[in-house]
Amino acid sequence: MRRPILSAQFPGPNAARMIAEQERLLSPSSTRDYPLVVESGEGCWITDVDGNQFLDFCAGIAVCTTGHCHPHVVQAITQQSKKLIHMSGTDFYYGPQGEMAQKLEKHIKLTGGLRAFFTNSGTETIEAAIKLARYATRRPHLIAFDGAFHGRSLGALSLTNSKVIQRRGFGPLLPEVSHIPYPGRTGISVEDTFGELEKLFKRRVDPSQVAAIFVEPIQGEGGYLIPPPSFLPRLRQVCDQHGILLVADEVQSGMGRTGKFCAMEHWHVEPDIVCLAKGIASGLPLGAMVARANLMQWPPGSHGSTFGGNPVACAAGVATIELLESGLLEHTAAMGEVLHKALREVMGGAPLVSEVRGLGLMVAIDLPDNATRNVLLHDCFHRGLILLGAGDRSIRLCPPLIVNEEEIHLATEILAASLVEIGQRPAQAA
Ligand code: PLP
Repeated sequence: MRRPILSAQFPGPNAARMIAEQERLLSPSSTRDYPLVVESGEGCWITDVDGNQFLDFCAGIAVCTTGHCHPHVVQAITQQSKKLIHMSGTDFYYGPQGEMAQKLEKHIKLTGGLRAFFTNSGTETIEAAIKLARYATRRPHLIAFDGAFHGRSLGALSLTNSKVIQRRGFGPLLPEVSHIPYPGRTGISVEDTFGELEKLFKRRVDPSQVAAIFVEPIQGEGGYLIPPPSFLPRLRQVCDQHGILLVADEVQSGMGRTGKFCAMEHWHVEPDIVCLAKGIASGLPLGAMVARANLMQWPPGSHGSTFGGNPVACAAGVATIELLESGLLEHTAAMGEVLHKALREVMGGAPLVSEVRGLGLMVAIDLPDNATRNVLLHDCFHRGLILLGAGDRSIRLCPPLIVNEEEIHLATEILAASLVEIGQRPAQAA
């Protein structure tokens, strides 16, 4: 069985040199949780520039859906890049953008059919959704949730409400944005959420002025929070009652990550607009804003993007969906169960873990506080397991969807060993 390989001097000399060079030149706004300099990736494994090998349970932040450099995706990229790399999809027609739209049409069921607008990232997808929602309704106001993360460009950032560092110093942001509590958070019930919404409608914003409510069906950056079952159906009802559009931000939860193509399917709720990015093309930059066809009625020139829907990115997207269609979706659901069970076993022997939650391979565990969480992330890294934090005190596990049982057991074994060691340290060291 493959295991992480870490040399005695770690991080190694190449990593140390490259980090020093890059720290001088790259924007200091990036967060670097640990000193990892990646050379290559294959499946769920990555190798750093000194030959150390890690098991990757973060997948480039839930992006490498099909694992690093899946041969089917590499082949699609190679073939397409030999034919056409760029043409600009908002000005010209070419094959892959249309093929990708057909794939999305097959998997996202919106009443009356759909239309897609392709972008290069999650935040651009949200920008496109904000613009379409306002354009289609001719209403100004937008509602999002406490703890939400929708991106960092100024429109999306106005909806983001996760960490103050993400907003501080960048104002003024969009006016006409309100936030209400998200019911997956500790102590927030569905009644609280809709109570706040009612108050908002009574005191501050007439619902007839609200274009859209943006919701992550599972809050991602906020901590992989799963809302109670009645939340999303009730949100749909409120939107219908007031002619408000429901925008599902599936940038992190979509593309099969939860064992369904889109997470909204778990609640049988149909949104008006779906936002996709991250895992859509197994690592190539691509996003899609998908809307009901009768909603996406904006004239030529009203929105566009030079790179959006790039032929190579779309070819990678089509190849990604082909893999989801040929068993990867079912595999994700099955591996999700294996991971949940294994983590519950870990939790049994580790009092530091207070909760395991998730759907499919979008899974989180909760630690007592932010400091303990960060120590655990570091400790696991030094044992060869790549993980990422989410929210204040959670760790997210979002491995490539091709992960196998052996890799899941290896990851949970490393996590368990790390938890035992941290649990034994004096409190201030944890
Ligand atoms: N929406 C959600 C739910 C996300 O998780 C993210 C990124 O983490 C974004 C939007 C923004 O995506 P990007 O970083 O590609 O702009």
